Order: sequence, then C-alpha cells, then structure tokens
Amino acid sequence: MFSKRANKFYHSLIFRLTLWYALIFVVISVIAFIAFYVSLAGNLEKRSKMFLLSKVKEFSHLARSKNIDAISAEFRREAQAMGIDNVQESLLDSSGTILVSSGGGHWRVLKPNSNLIRKAIKSNEPVFEVVKLPGFRHKVRVVYAYVGNGRILRIARNLKYEENLLYGMQIIFTRVMMLILGLSVLGSWWILTRAMNRVRAVTETATSISSTNLDRYVPVSGRDDEIDHLAKAFNEMLERIRTLINAMKEVTDNIAHDLKTPITRIRLIAESQLALDSEQQETLGAIIEQCDKLLGMINTALELRRLEYDSGIIVRNIKEVNLADLLRQAYEIFQPVAEDKDITLAFEAQITGSCLIRADRDRLQRAFANLIDNAIKYTPRGGKVKIILKCPADKSVVEISDTGIGISEQDLPNIFDKFYRGDSSRAEGGFGLGLTLTKSIIDAHKGTISVESQVNNGARFIVVLPTY
Ligand code: ADP
Repeated sequence: MFSKRANKFYHSLIFRLTLWYALIFVVISVIAFIAFYVSLAGNLEKRSKMFLLSKVKEFSHLARSKNIDAISAEFRREAQAMGIDNVQESLLDSSGTILVSSGGGHWRVLKPNSNLIRKAIKSNEPVFEVVKLPGFRHKVRVVYAYVGNGRILRIARNLKYEENLLYGMQIIFTRVMMLILGLSVLGSWWILTRAMNRVRAVTETATSISSTNLDRYVPVSGRDDEIDHLAKAFNEMLERIRTLINAMKEVTDNIAHDLKTPITRIRLIAESQLALDSEQQETLGAIIEQCDKLLGMINTALELRRLEYDSGIIVRNIKEVNLADLLRQAYEIFQPVAEDKDITLAFEAQITGSCLIRADRDRLQRAFANLIDNAIKYTPRGGKVKIILKCPADKSVVEISDTGIGISEQDLPNIFDKFYRGDSSRAEGGFGLGLTLTKSIIDAHKGTISVESQVNNGARFIVVLPTY
C-alpha cells in the first residue's frame, strides 16, 4: 500500500518537475560559484604577485650594496612590520647560498630553488613558485629576482590570507547552496502544486463523468493561461458529447415509443383472433406472450431512461416510509409466488432502532420487488429465500438471500449493467434490466447495493439505506 503510494508519488509530474527545477537551480548556482571562485582566486594571485614584485623593487637597490649589515637590518625591520610568519626576505648568491635573511627559524625549511635561480639570472626577470613547506599550514609564494652583482633577492610570502578567504567562500557557498536548494524545492513544489491542482480538477471532472452525469464543468479561473485553455477545450468537448448523447437517447426513446404501438396492435390482433379461432390457440398464446415480454422490456427501458435522464423524478415523492412495513408487504405479495414454486419465503425484522427512512415508496418497493423476484426466479424448487431487515443507529440494512444457482465470478461485476444477463440465467425469462433499475433507485436514495455469491451456493444482496 505504502510502496504503491510512494511509487505513484515518485512518478508524479510535480515530483519530477520539482527535482528538475532544483537540479537546474543547483547546476546554475554551482557554475556561477565556480566562475566567481576562479576569478577571485586569479585576482588574489595577481595581487600577491604584485606585492612580491613591489618588495623586489623596494629592496633591489639596497640588495646590490656591499653593506650586508644594512641589508640585514632592513630585512628584519620589514619582517617585523609584516609579521615574521608572513614574509621572509633573503639575499642569495648565484650558487644559491643564503648571504643574509630576515630570520624566523621556521623559514629554514625553505630551501633555495637552484633551477629558478638560474632561470631568474638567465631571463633577468622575476620568477615565481608556490610551495608547501613542512610545518606551515598554508602554502607559500616565492619570488626569485636577479638584482645584479651576482645576487638574487628571494622574497617569500605566506598565502594564509588568500587561502582563508577562498576557504571561507567555499563554506559560505555550501551554506547558501543548501538554503537555495531548500527554497527552490519548496518554491517549485508550491508553484507546481498550485498549477497541478487545476489540472487535477480537470482529471476529477473527467473521471466523475458518466452518461447520467454529463452536466459537470471544469472550473475556469479566468487567468487565460494554458490550464484555462485546457479547461475550456475540455468543457467544449463535454458540451459536444452531451449534445450527441442526448440526440442518441432521443432517437432510442423515439424508437422504443414507436415500437410500442405496433406491438400492442399485434397483441390485440392475436387476442381477437384467439376469440375466433380456437385451433390456433397455442400459436396465438405464444404471440401474445412474446408481445407482453417485448412491451415489458420497452417499458422498463423507458423507465430506466427516465431515471437516468432526470434522477430528480425519483426523489420527487419523498415521504417518511417505514421500511419494516414496506418489506412485510412485499413479503406478503410474493408469498403465493414462492409457494407455487415450493420455495420457503421468510421475513425477519431484527429491529433495534428506527426503520424510518425518507423515500419514494413506490420506487423503493419496485427495487425490493426486483430483488425478491430474482431470488425466487433463480432458486430451484424446494429452496429458501430470506428477507432480513436490520436497523442499527443511522442506517437500515436489508439482506435478501437465497439458496439458488448463485452468480459466477465473471458475472458478478456486470450484473448491475443494463441488459446484462448471466449465462446460467438464460433458462429464465428476463431482460437484464431489473438490477440496473434497482441500483438506480437505491442510488437515488443515497443508499448502496452490493452482492455476495458463489455458483450453486445462492446469492445475498445487501441494500444499505440512510435512516433519520
Ligand atoms: P434478469 O433477471 O431479467 O436477467 P436482472 O438485471 O434482474 O435481469 O439480473 C441480471 C442478472 O443477474 C441475471 O441475469 C442473473 O444472471 C443475475 N442474478 C440476479 N439476481 C440473481 C440471484 N438472486 N441469483 C442468481 N443470479 C442472479
């Protein structure tokens, strides 16, 4: 049950679109961040190189002088000012030997890079490198610059500030990303649910439509957007179907009405002939019987049609009805019919509460008569038919059970359909309209009808009606 619902949820358009929106949002944000990050990193690199070059420029004149002590003093002063951990200035000779440096014992791990020294001398241009030194948390950018007199100026700068800034950016981005992701999921979910609710209204209207319930319309919001266009197209289609069905029903009604006159006339002719010609008694009797069947069928079909066409008809004569009285009366009417077939018909009223309902008495009697008639019809001689009435708190339950031929599993879902007749019931007369009419009547009383049955094991029809 749960997995079915979860499966439906994962396949829903809202879920998939939300996922897509969130994904697109995240991808765009990541690309924007990468672009920003790369440009910031490039900018920081440029600034750090410019700083080192400015120091090279500042010290290059002094670095050429013979006064090593003065150089050392200036280096130390600068290192003190910048922070001993942050910068280190050294003067090297062309073989990479350190002549003087600004100090800071931990900088000792920074070994001269003879390749870069050679390159700086050869090109007479400053050359840079970034190294990770043991004991240092951050990387270090180093510049080697040839200052003349066989001397190389080396200035190293801790990249603490740049790395901290970039790391901070990453943290901020991750948090902002989570927030954006959450908001985008919620936002798109909200927008999509609102849009989909309107699509759902179209679906619900479409599912609730039946041939008796074609007067529904899908609500149009008036926003004149795509969903309004869909709703309008759907309503127009409904209108066309309605016109078509009404035209078809009218044609069927007319045919049924038109058939009644010639059939009645045939019956009358057969009747009057019967009075004159006693030799043809059997044939004429059969003609009259078939005419009666046809007329019965046409009348039931027309009645059904009237109920479908205007279900209001059925609830027009609503009065207070005592269900116990109504069923007892039906029981008494059917008693002789059951006796004729050697069937025991029983009525049992297990009344604890009120069995008063609001109903159209004649229609309801017709519905129960159909059920009792069927029970007797589909029960072989010697069988039993039982009518039970129970009236608990807010409803009345009527059970009509028999010990007859029962209904097969294939027939069960169809027996309330118009003109449907079970295979095993062909031997009995009928048009397959009784249960359709019964269900229409029960529906119009806001009740329900259900059936339980097995082949050769009888059938049990259960009608539940609201009491008041
Ligand atoms: P009809 O009785 O005229 O065939 P109904 O609409 O009254 O039409 O019933 C439809 C079908 O339901 C019947 O043809 C029969 O197969 C089945 N049915 C109805 N009631 C019973 C019952 N009590 N026992 C067995 N089958 C039944």
